[in-house]
Amino acid sequence: MVAETFDRSLWSAITPPGPDLPSLRGEVTADIVLVGAGYLGMTTALTLAAEGLTVALVEAREPGWGASGRNTGFVVPTLKKALSPANVRAAFGPRRGEAFSRMIGGSGTRLFELAREQGIEGAEQTGWLQPAHSGAAMAANAAQVAEWQALGFDVRQLGREDVAARTGMDGYHGAMLIPTGGQLNPLAYARGLARACQQAGVRLFAASPVTGIARDGLGWRVSTPGGSVSAPRAVLTTNALVGRLCPAVDRAVIPTRSFQIATQRFGAETQARVLPARSPVADTRRHLFAARWSPDGRIVGGGLVHPGPGRLARTRRRFEQRFARFLPQLGPVRADYAWTGTVAVTLDALPRLHRLGDGLWAPIACNGRGVALTGAFGHELGRFLAGRVTAEEFVVPVTTPEPVPLRALATLAPYAWLPWSEFRDRIEAERPS
Ligand SMILES: Cc1cc2nc3c(=O)[nH]c(=O)nc-3n(C[C@H](O)[C@H](O)[C@H](O)COP(=O)(O)OP(=O)(O)OC[C@H]3O[C@@H](n4cnc5c(N)ncnc54)[C@H](O)[C@@H]3O)c2cc1C
Repeated sequence: MVAETFDRSLWSAITPPGPDLPSLRGEVTADIVLVGAGYLGMTTALTLAAEGLTVALVEAREPGWGASGRNTGFVVPTLKKALSPANVRAAFGPRRGEAFSRMIGGSGTRLFELAREQGIEGAEQTGWLQPAHSGAAMAANAAQVAEWQALGFDVRQLGREDVAARTGMDGYHGAMLIPTGGQLNPLAYARGLARACQQAGVRLFAASPVTGIARDGLGWRVSTPGGSVSAPRAVLTTNALVGRLCPAVDRAVIPTRSFQIATQRFGAETQARVLPARSPVADTRRHLFAARWSPDGRIVGGGLVHPGPGRLARTRRRFEQRFARFLPQLGPVRADYAWTGTVAVTLDALPRLHRLGDGLWAPIACNGRGVALTGAFGHELGRFLAGRVTAEEFVVPVTTPEPVPLRALATLAPYAWLPWSEFRDRIEAERPS
């Protein structure tokens, strides 16, 4: 059992509280009920409310308590590095693949517009940068840049000198820059969405863990210890934390634990030399190096952590050393904050919309790239649930959950492969291009 760390994050320390929310008491009815107030639940609820539906959103802890309130806050309008628009077309077919890629390509712009509209503090549209650690990675970056440009998106290829100037880091072969990306305070975004939901008339309940979902007349009854919601339609937006509430959805993803640190604070002079453009950086390594500045002058980033006993202390030291190695201008690095979160990974790294029964749905949108994606996906999902688009027209195929084969092994694989991945990253980075 790994200790719970939501309250230990930098974001919990620096973010003003969210709105006061009631817990669910007695019997409530709605047109639709959602379970889980992360980005996906809240952005879907906002679209449904705008469509004129009565919406109840039931959260076990508080909005943003899951991955949404404890991520690195990178706003990334693209998928994992191997998933270019061409790969998505191959997976989803030409029409749906293109619609999905357009949704992803526009997701950064959508998020920053929403943040501005809602007055959410800490959102910086400074562009997102993917530096290439090897010549081969540079070629793959260039091919992907060309694909995004062909779809009409502003995605740029930078050379060595440009990357060094934007990051203060030498040794990268170049980078993909997406100017519509950037960074935000993830918990401020989650709490801002909660406020927006309240203002839009969504009945948002906190501290209300859903313990069961059962058929109720023509619809569904979502039960918590204090009360229940009955609605013709129900949606599980519980992401990696679905657990025993729906074992079929749980078995269809690989839960992957990610570790974050926030360092000591640095002054203006260091901030002018390290990542001076304030673009968050996530490079092309298999064990990717990811870093950004926080609003209060700390470097934030992290990666995989093995969930075994005693791992957290060791991982903290490893990341302190990693930051000091990649960003030597920082000098000795100390993690003032360290926390973890869980990412729901699908085998092909693409989101899903599972149909669990008549009017019962489970979207899974995470895959560690959900900050921008969930807002755009939530909007599309809201339109689908409101009857604006059909299942055939929806941006991802409607599926039933399939268990991940050899899930226990698949869960351990990323950690087991880490030393080998790091070795290959090092060899590739040292190879002359
Ligand atoms: C450490 C970390 C770093 C990351 N960094 C980035 C990044 O920099 N950029 C990026 O794009 N993505 C990142 N991600 C991924 C991103 O955070 C997620 O994709 C996104 O937040 C998923 O949102 P969600 O709403 O689907 O799920 P979640 O935010 O996990 O929300 C699910 C909610 O459901 C609730 N819930 C679960 N069970 C129940 C129940 N039984 N009853 C009621 N409520 C329930 C939970 O409490 C939770 O609030 C990161 C993830 C992690 C963990």
